[in-house]
Amino acid sequence: MATVLPSPPRVGMVSLGCPKNLVDSERILTKLRSDGYEMSPDYAGADIVLVNTCGFLDSAKEESLAAIGEAIAENGRVIVTGCFGKEAEVIRDRFPDVLAVTGAHQYEEVVGAVHEAAPMPPSPFVNLVPEAGLKLTPRHYSYLKISEGCNHRCAFCIIPQLRGDLVSRRPDAILREAEKLVEAGTKELLVISQDTSAYGVDIRKEPRMWKGHEVVPHMTDLARELGKIAPWVRLHYVYPYPHVDQVIPLMAEGLVLPYLDIPFQHASRSVLRAMRRPANEAKVLERLKSWREICPDIAIRSTFVVGFPGETEDDFRYLLDWLEEAQLDRVGAFRFEPVEGAAANALPDPIPEEVKEERYTRVMELTARISIAKLAAKVGRTLQVIIDAVDSETGGATGRSMADAPEIDGEVHLRDAGHLAVGDIAPVVIEESDEHDLFGVPA
Ligand code: SF4
Repeated sequence: MATVLPSPPRVGMVSLGCPKNLVDSERILTKLRSDGYEMSPDYAGADIVLVNTCGFLDSAKEESLAAIGEAIAENGRVIVTGCFGKEAEVIRDRFPDVLAVTGAHQYEEVVGAVHEAAPMPPSPFVNLVPEAGLKLTPRHYSYLKISEGCNHRCAFCIIPQLRGDLVSRRPDAILREAEKLVEAGTKELLVISQDTSAYGVDIRKEPRMWKGHEVVPHMTDLARELGKIAPWVRLHYVYPYPHVDQVIPLMAEGLVLPYLDIPFQHASRSVLRAMRRPANEAKVLERLKSWREICPDIAIRSTFVVGFPGETEDDFRYLLDWLEEAQLDRVGAFRFEPVEGAAANALPDPIPEEVKEERYTRVMELTARISIAKLAAKVGRTLQVIIDAVDSETGGATGRSMADAPEIDGEVHLRDAGHLAVGDIAPVVIEESDEHDLFGVPA
């Protein structure tokens, strides 16, 4: 006997305004089609009606309000999007029954609103894609992108040319995605962007409702909310702005992992200036000290570029001294390479390859020594470890402590851990250490 599949919801669309709006409508419908929705040519056959509005002129606003009114009268289940969506209060005042209002180009939000108002019936025959979307990482950790692009113009980087200035995602959309990921089994969220600490500068005046309260688009507010959703939240690519200080108490409270990935890139003032990065290395040392006072277990990861054009031996020694004092937990170093299109390529005094190599070796030797000592100090302690792999034959397992991000930091190798499962977060007694990794046994 043939299995009858549940029929998908049908979406009607009223598209007003200019060709750009029409393209937006097409994109929204294409996404909804690929999500399995069907289209309805009339109000009567639609489970939900989208009105893509124009708000450019007063006459266009009037036309939009009339179209919303008609859709409410004919169908009743209406989502409004498009340029006029910016004036959500005007729309809601006039039509309190609209299900959701989103602005122009907010495809993700309008598609999310349709999913919420008219969910696809679950079917094992058609739902090949899990609710949280396709993931390239294991189920227990997920990358969560919060913005795209960057407002800085570091001389060695072409990301702003490729991706443009920073564009932040709405906090409620990020939090919804985080919630879906956690429902699908994620234990650790890895927050990424080009510049996590700048999150929200472009949409600061647009707080969004989430679970009955407003969330301001700011790194601290977002980190706090994410901390309520996922057991572990890890912040990557944090630019050392002063307001980064505000997330340290969240780490001390246990809402966010005591881990900061801050690419300092260098310590010498003149090199940082040439790189067009903030040059306040002495302040940074003070801040590291105060962060460690508030949250003694904080792990700082950073990356540095050696052999940047014009870097003198004095600049380099300054970097080594700074690193000795900063005692960072994890350090990655790169030899400067000119990237096509980067402003740094035009700088005078390029550093010969053999000098770059020699400096690279010196920085790696120093940071390895610091890492060995820091990891040795953890022997005898009990640390929380997230399990990445279990070897059923040997009874061993591999995981990471709060100080270790996947792929880039160290690991914790466990013995007698066959009873643990991937994604478990378990206390582990640390028995040994080496340059990168820890070794232990479940407590
Ligand atoms: S290095 Fe980072 S902060 Fe600097 S321009 Fe590139 S993306 Fe922006």
